[in-house]
Amino acid sequence: MDRYSRQALLTEIGTTGQKILQQKTVALVGIGALGTVSAELLARAGLGKLLLIDRDVVELSNLQRQSLFTERDLEKGKAETAKEKLKKINSEIEVEANSVHLNYETISLLEKADLILDCTDNLVTRFLINDYCKKNSKSWVYSAAIGTSGYVMPILPGGPCLRCFLEEANLDTCDTVGVLNTITVSIAALQVTLALKILLGKETEPILHHYDIWNHEYKKLIIKTKKDCPACNKKFTYLNEPENKILRFCASGKYQIQGPKPDLKKIKSNWQQLGEVIDDGVTLQFKSVMLFKDGRALIKAGSEEEARIIYSKYIGN
Ligand SMILES: [Zn+2]
Repeated sequence: MDRYSRQALLTEIGTTGQKILQQKTVALVGIGALGTVSAELLARAGLGKLLLIDRDVVELSNLQRQSLFTERDLEKGKAETAKEKLKKINSEIEVEANSVHLNYETISLLEKADLILDCTDNLVTRFLINDYCKKNSKSWVYSAAIGTSGYVMPILPGGPCLRCFLEEANLDTCDTVGVLNTITVSIAALQVTLALKILLGKETEPILHHYDIWNHEYKKLIIKTKKDCPACNKKFTYLNEPENKILRFCASGKYQIQGPKPDLKKIKSNWQQLGEVIDDGVTLQFKSVMLFKDGRALIKAGSEEEARIIYSKYIGN
């Protein structure tokens, strides 16, 4: 117990609480800005087991905020690399790395988890986690950070869920508007604090926390269950094979992704920050992406996975 003595000394945790934490399994979906920080904090806090889930590799632009990675890790898989680092920090805990994209087919990976942390950067995966947890009465923590601010909310069985207050279209992504590394660390710290409280049975309020670190603003909002929320009414659409969001192979190395109707003006101005955009009145073209008014995107990529990554990077969702 010496290792955790400072934590066990806290009346909020105690030696009993510490022993409980050492029995728990937490899944982290996404090992990026939030996931690396949250995983490190949980490893140091002595959680029993961490399940890491991320399909991506480490890129140079990640190093500004993804604290477990170094220059030596470029092009390496995030989940495996994070596992190596976490085992060096705490060899007593179990860490499982899963280099997969979490979708309706792989979602059962979360079965073993007592708690799920949303460390993703897209709404489709969040709604998938939301449906899964609602259906299986599991707790999870929604977290998001972009620009200089972020949100965190504990989502507990029987309480309101993400779809009670979030709509499907949100087109900002960190790759188009940027993110401050102090906000991702702050949001991860808030997320892990809530995680410890949930695991110890001390967090029950459905409160959405909003923090803007640049403008020093902190707000709390109590969320109520929405009467016509699909998930709360047992319509778990994200657990089924996606119909209109499906990727279809078109021709030579091009993939089609049908997304929601986009705000082309906004996307255009976001993309213009990053490079040249061709606007022919019908489509927007940027790098390997051609985006249509109806939400259809044609993406040149080496694989379906790569197309999916490019889509979530530049179009979002
Ligand atoms: Zn709901």
